Amino acid sequence: MAAAARGGRADRAGIERDQRRVAELRAEIDEHDRRYYVDDAPAISDAEYDALIRELRGLEAAHPELVVPESPTQRVSGAPAALFTPVAHRQPMMSLDNAFEVAELLAWGERLERRLGAGPGDAPVDYVCELKIDGLAVSLVYEDGLLVQGATRGDGRVGEDVTANLRTVTAIPKRLPAGAPEVLEVRGEVFMGRAAFDALNDRQGRAGQRLFVNPRNAAAGSLRQKDPSVTASRELSMWCYQLGAVRGGPRFGRHCETLEFLAGLGFPVNPEIELKPNLDEVHAFCRHWEDHRHDLDYEIDGVVVKVDDLARRDELGSTSRAPRWAIAYKFPPEERTTRLLDILVSVGRTGRATPYAQLEPVFVGGANVSQATLHNEDQVRVKDVRVGDVVVVRRAGDVIPEVVGPVLPRDDPDRPPWTFPAVCPCPRRSPLVRPEGEADTRCVDLQCPFQLAGSIEHFASRGAMDIEGLGEQRVRLFLDLGLVHDIGDLYSIDWERVRSLEGFGDTSVANLRAAIEASKARPLANLLVGLNIRHLGPAGAEALAAAMGDLDRIIAASAEEMAAVEGVGPVIAHAVHGWFADPGHRAVVDKLRAAGVNVRGPERADVPQVLAGKAIVVTGTLAGWTRDEAEAAVKARGGKSPGSVSKKTLAVVVGEGPGASKLTRAEELGVPVVDEAAFAALLETGALPG
Ligand code: NAD
Repeated sequence: MAAAARGGRADRAGIERDQRRVAELRAEIDEHDRRYYVDDAPAISDAEYDALIRELRGLEAAHPELVVPESPTQRVSGAPAALFTPVAHRQPMMSLDNAFEVAELLAWGERLERRLGAGPGDAPVDYVCELKIDGLAVSLVYEDGLLVQGATRGDGRVGEDVTANLRTVTAIPKRLPAGAPEVLEVRGEVFMGRAAFDALNDRQGRAGQRLFVNPRNAAAGSLRQKDPSVTASRELSMWCYQLGAVRGGPRFGRHCETLEFLAGLGFPVNPEIELKPNLDEVHAFCRHWEDHRHDLDYEIDGVVVKVDDLARRDELGSTSRAPRWAIAYKFPPEERTTRLLDILVSVGRTGRATPYAQLEPVFVGGANVSQATLHNEDQVRVKDVRVGDVVVVRRAGDVIPEVVGPVLPRDDPDRPPWTFPAVCPCPRRSPLVRPEGEADTRCVDLQCPFQLAGSIEHFASRGAMDIEGLGEQRVRLFLDLGLVHDIGDLYSIDWERVRSLEGFGDTSVANLRAAIEASKARPLANLLVGLNIRHLGPAGAEALAAAMGDLDRIIAASAEEMAAVEGVGPVIAHAVHGWFADPGHRAVVDKLRAAGVNVRGPERADVPQVLAGKAIVVTGTLAGWTRDEAEAAVKARGGKSPGSVSKKTLAVVVGEGPGASKLTRAEELGVPVVDEAAFAALLETGALPG
């Protein structure tokens, strides 16, 4: 009895705690909605916002009596801002339910198929898979073929009138072709492409104005402007994905037919939309775009999966905030907020001092991130990130993590701006210098141990002398112990001393020694890359090696002579000439030469230069050539073999398993796609057969 009473009290205490948390969460979510939808200035990342919603949903599921229609789980979030005239939507603009895991997506589909009675023998359910464009939803209304109204979603019932602003968006038709329905409502997402976003932030930065944290906020901020000429300057675009209210038009049975109809009227309909006959294929579509989202020149944050059959949609209906016939499968987040603990500077092989952020660790873009680049002094100033700020961190695909900007207003307005340190963080504490007119700050001390370590690591790297086993740690150890002072010393290391070091045994010493020995035979171009000459990359190094034939000729050449080499140019030529003019560098080269490092360029066989100035792209595996051999064969004949197809490409040579994007691009640009036999003919004559 007493225990039951205690249990009852504990239950009540638990319920009261949950009630308080529900109220707290609702207030917090309301505040984030206002910042996101009304001010276009979110304070937390979407992932964090979604976590709050999920927590609220969980509590409401445990206490159904706490569910009220005003809860953010039950309504479409957002509110029309007073700045704009309100517009009542003819049909509500709904939100979407989310699936954050594949299992949730599949469970949604299976539930819906059960509900539709789509068992064996019944018509299977077709799904339309669409990219979830990261922008903002708008509704466009046409009367007698003319765009008469454009509105944002607002709270789903009432949106904001942004007609004048939407008229400035080139992708949106202002007049429809003859025969369009009397009244037509179309919905879709207005967004800003990546290039337009970068250009906008570049302009904002140069004008000393606030940067936008991502293309979604930039799009929303640009559309929701009082002055349409501002919107017009912002390069917005749109993908349409839904037919709304229609009067005097055809009737449709399937969603995909409505999309075709819209495309036929000149509306921009996303080309990646696909119809899928079952959930397995839906899943494969989601996986594909999760891996390839960065191939697009606009941002997506997931895939929207919709039942294609419109009658079945009616059967499934909607909740108060979202249809049951669609779901948004959300990709893992690429942006999170975290605390900026410190701003430090690293000095690399060229002496460039790069500021970077030390962060409270955060899981983002599939990895734990505790450091992120801040690029240079101007970037820190323009972004105005200050030590102690809460910042947005982004890690997208293979791109290194970066700090996007602070969450404003900052929690402590008195935090001082960051200033670039005056001295190098290395033990020599040499001065850091930012030359007039340059963006980078540099350590100009050639004996700076950070630069030396960076230059030796670079010398040993794959694109240069490719010395396996000589990584950052070993380089630092050898430098600290005075076993090497520069790259020239690598070939006269005291191996007996190395053998006595902790962590080295006979085998590891033998392996490293053999790798260093083998590097002596690398081509001259690799050696040139390894010398760490500013501006000189692999293409320039190859051009110089091929044109000059050996290192002595390069050393003896004037800057003008080198600049005349195709693919070199004056900037590289001056850098190379200046590098070899330095006696310290010449001493290093002498050590390399004395050690027997190859300094001779490729034999110049008398191959006719039939491909001079021409570009040939190779994709897939050829039977008779490796990729490197094929590229070398093109280059030996004076041609180029770039990694992507452009208008200037003479032909795309296709082997087994070619890259789809290269083929599509070739088709778009009308570049001939040829097989291996035609490639052989090209190498022979420089022209396509036939
Ligand atoms: P949602 O973004 O999850 O899904 C609905 C929206 O998807 C539609 O309104 C439409 O704009 C868009 N969409 C894109 N492509 C589409 C397509 N092909 N078909 C249909 N719709 C498509 O839901 P929501 O209600 O707009 O917003 C909630 C989300 O917004 C949250 O999950 C969160 O990611 C974000 N949010 C973030 C904050 C924050 O503070 N960071 C605040 C509020 C909302």
